[in-house]
Formats: sequence, C-alpha cells, structure tokens
Amino acid sequence: MAVTAIKTKLRDDDTRRPPCARGTGRGYRSSHCAQCGLRTPLCLCAQLPHVETTTRVWFVMHWRESSKPSNTARLAMRLLSNSTCIERGRTLDSAGVVERTLEPLDPASCLLLYPSDDALPLDEVLSGERAAALNLIVPDGTWGQTRRWVRRETWLAPVRRVRLSRASHLPGYRLRHAAGPNLYSTFEATAIALSVIHGWALGDTLLTHFEQWQQRALASRSGGLACG
Ligand SMILES: [Zn+2]
Repeated sequence: MAVTAIKTKLRDDDTRRPPCARGTGRGYRSSHCAQCGLRTPLCLCAQLPHVETTTRVWFVMHWRESSKPSNTARLAMRLLSNSTCIERGRTLDSAGVVERTLEPLDPASCLLLYPSDDALPLDEVLSGERAAALNLIVPDGTWGQTRRWVRRETWLAPVRRVRLSRASHLPGYRLRHAAGPNLYSTFEATAIALSVIHGWALGDTLLTHFEQWQQRALASRSGGLACG
C-alpha cells in the first residue's frame, strides 16, 4: 500500500474531544487534560501534531479505561486526525452504539487488531490489498475485557483479525505491566499497525510523542511537575 503523506500541523484550538476522553470522575476531570490525559500542569497537547492517515482508526474503549491516567488510546486519539473513539460497556445501550456504528462498514475494508489464534499477520493481509482505505478497529481495555467482547459480538465474525509481528525497537510501555510477551499497549499496537500500513516514518513520529507522554506520566506518578 502506498505510503500516505503525513501532515503534522499544529492546531491551537482542538475541538475534537471524544466522549471517551472526558474521564468519568469529577476529580479526574478537574485535574487532568481531557485530550492527552496528563495532569494539567504536564499537558503535552500544545507540542503534539495532528497526524493524518487514510486509514481510519476506531478505538472501542471499555468504559473503565476512560478515567485511567495510564490509558494510551486517549493519546492516540489526540494525535490521529482520522480516528474515532466509541465507549462501550457503561450501559447496555452503549454496547449497541458500537454495533450500530461499525457493523454498517464494509467488512472487506475492516481489520480487527486482536491477536487471537486465528489472526493473520497484518503484513500478510496487506500484501493482497491495494489502495482501498482501511478501517482499523482497535479494542481498548484489559485483555479479559477485550476477549469477552470479541467472543460476544457476533457482528464481528466477518471482520478479519490481524496481529503484529514483534517490533524490537519500541521504547516499551512502563505504566502498566504487559500481560505477556509481544503484547503492547493500545498506543504501541496502533502505531505499529499504522507503520505496517503506511511506513515506519509514521510509526517513528507516533512513538516519539508516546515516549514524551510516557515520561511525563511517569513524572506525574512520582510527584514531579517540572516540564518544558
Ligand atoms: Zn493535554
């Protein structure tokens, strides 16, 4: 697939605040940036570009993730212009929102980023694809939450499942413990997948900002507030 031109323009006034990025607790909302999720004094948003891709990324976020400072899908949403976040699981109806939004998409254009036993390596799947815009569906939640969701949603059956090959040069996610080898945070998995689709220049851009964000999140956790 052709490498997509990456436009990295800064916007002073970002109104793309997804519902899932609002946080749920009153204390969380008042003390953390609604977009990057960092504590307000450490907010990185003014330094982040908006990265455009032809691939549309759909984050399906378990509602419990929305108020976790360690959530990484929120940062991916802030960086990726062509992305949408759908919250699920808060009420019975919110599960229906995911289905109503994603089921009408052409299954042939959709890829579910989920490393099940029947998932194919993404690069192999793409070798037969040309030019068509893709919809990349990225579950965001614990592995248990995601596993139950994928099993339950029968409308996902015709969607191809894809997995990633190991990318050894990743900085590594240090805010949560990985559930197993070769398992990445939502941000890292999304960045690698988009790199496979659009080239590593895109991945390098995303992962550079991820490391910036992670360092600030770790500083916040340890009580440090100094930032540039
Ligand atoms: Zn921010």
